[in-house]
Amino acid sequence: MNIRTQLILSYIGIVLLVFFAMDFYLGNALKGVLSDRITDELEVQAALAREFLIEELPGSDRFTHPVIDGLVDRLGETGNVRLTFIGSNGIVWGDTERDGQSLIEMDNHLSRQEVQEAISEGIGSEDRFSDTTQTEYRYLVLPVKRNGESIGFCRVALPKAAINTAIGSQQRMLLYATIAGSVLAIIFGILSTGAILKPIKRLTETTQSIAAGETTSKVEVKSNNELGQLLQNFNLMTDKVQEQIDKISVENQRLESILNNMGEGVLLVNEASEITYANPAAVVMLDLPEMYIGRALIEINRIPELQALLSEAEQTSTVAFAEIRLANLQESEAEVTIVPVAAKSEYVIVIHDVSHVRQLERIRADFVANVSHELRTPLTTIQGYAETLLNSDSKKSKKRKEFIVKILNHSTRLSRLVSDLLELARLESGDVELTMTPCHLSAFYEQIMDVFEPVLEESGLVLKWDIPDDLPQVNVDHQLFMQVFVNLIDNAIKYTPDGGEIGISAEINTTNTENADELVVHIKDTGIGIPLESQSRVFERFYRVDKGRARKMGGTGLGLAITKHILLCHNGRIWLESELGQGTVFHFALPIMSTD
Ligand code: ADP
Repeated sequence: MNIRTQLILSYIGIVLLVFFAMDFYLGNALKGVLSDRITDELEVQAALAREFLIEELPGSDRFTHPVIDGLVDRLGETGNVRLTFIGSNGIVWGDTERDGQSLIEMDNHLSRQEVQEAISEGIGSEDRFSDTTQTEYRYLVLPVKRNGESIGFCRVALPKAAINTAIGSQQRMLLYATIAGSVLAIIFGILSTGAILKPIKRLTETTQSIAAGETTSKVEVKSNNELGQLLQNFNLMTDKVQEQIDKISVENQRLESILNNMGEGVLLVNEASEITYANPAAVVMLDLPEMYIGRALIEINRIPELQALLSEAEQTSTVAFAEIRLANLQESEAEVTIVPVAAKSEYVIVIHDVSHVRQLERIRADFVANVSHELRTPLTTIQGYAETLLNSDSKKSKKRKEFIVKILNHSTRLSRLVSDLLELARLESGDVELTMTPCHLSAFYEQIMDVFEPVLEESGLVLKWDIPDDLPQVNVDHQLFMQVFVNLIDNAIKYTPDGGEIGISAEINTTNTENADELVVHIKDTGIGIPLESQSRVFERFYRVDKGRARKMGGTGLGLAITKHILLCHNGRIWLESELGQGTVFHFALPIMSTD
């Protein structure tokens, strides 16, 4: 049963109870009042009749039935009541309901209750059944006295039926009024219950729509009473809740974007080691499948060290840390930290990929080893020749000269190595001040020929320059960029047998979608080529395909590393194509200067 029906039913119950209790009480009160009024009326009528009789009656010794009854009947015509005159000895001398013989035969009325009461009280009143008329009457008796002498009793009587009819009709009126009042009260009650419950209905509807997700829903407030205030408070409460939800969602978004964009992998597992959350970095690092939520970590990623670390964190309930090699494609090395949270029912696993750091450490270690080795070789040689010179016979001038030349060659190589190292360090540090000027690549031609013409002639190599003058300009540090051409052409000359050909060409590349239009330069030789496995490594420092040969050629193994860095400083890139025994093409690309 809903609250409305409950309210209406109890309201109807109360209304009916109150109205009919009232009707019962008022009905009884009314009956009493009306009855008293009728008695008063009877008294008035009796008093009037008495006055008339005192005037009209003969002396009591001259009482005869016809005379008195005639008088009484005349008097009774004016009223609607039964009138009786009883002599002081109880003989009934006149009655409006009896005539002739039947009047004479009437009982002596002295013992009648109402007469006895009139004798003792001065007024007698009685409701009783009349044997004479076989009707129930209300009697009222007043003694009739003339000159202080009692001459009889004047009695008026009204049939009880008439009294009951009068009272009954009044009571009926009261009942009708009660029924009408109850009906009106019930109708009003039902209507006002509806009106009272309307705000509650609106509140219910609003809470339903909020539950359905429309969190901005508001209840319409139409009044300022207690319910209106409740609705206002509800609206205030939803505002506050919405504010909190907004705050939390902003925080969540912030947290989510941090987690989504951070380099570290973050993973959350529950007591059963099932994944409850993984950020994108963790998905990549652990190579997680699409549906990983709710699956056990061990089931997805079989890294024993990770499992061991998780068990350690579970057992010790403290932070566990270890460096682990992840079983993903790159075999990344990672620092893994496991932190118990939420009363040890969850664990946060933070994975920090340190492959790059470790690789840098390895490169640095290799570099130091390489540098030491590269420096030690010429130094040992110089030291050897110098000691030999010191101990040798000073007259053998031919040998002396030969040794001094060797010392010079090695110290030159040493000096080149040191200056190349310095140059590379400078470029790598990033604080090279570039003096960028727009220029056409064809502008390098003359300078290049100045450097290489003698060597080319000596080795019988042909250099074909095919860079058109009308190509767009590029923005370069002229002096530094010259090094790119020098290194690449120098390598081409070094690794191409005599009589070979070196071609330098360039064109615009518009197919590169990632970058803006760029100028691509090709330096092609017909030399010894670079084996496939070395092609990706020739840009590393000190990497040489054939160490002995390269060294003989005077190479330091740093030329291509320097070239790559110079191009990077110019937002350019470098790559190569090569076929063993056929030749090599180095390509480099530079962004074209925008014309606007
Ligand atoms: P280097 O000073 O030894 O020439 P680079 O860094 O310039 O050092 O080159 C690295 C290595 O790449 C060389 O030792 C050589 O083995 C290989 N290389 C470079 N250019 C060519 C080329 N044009 N043809 C064949 N091999 C080359």
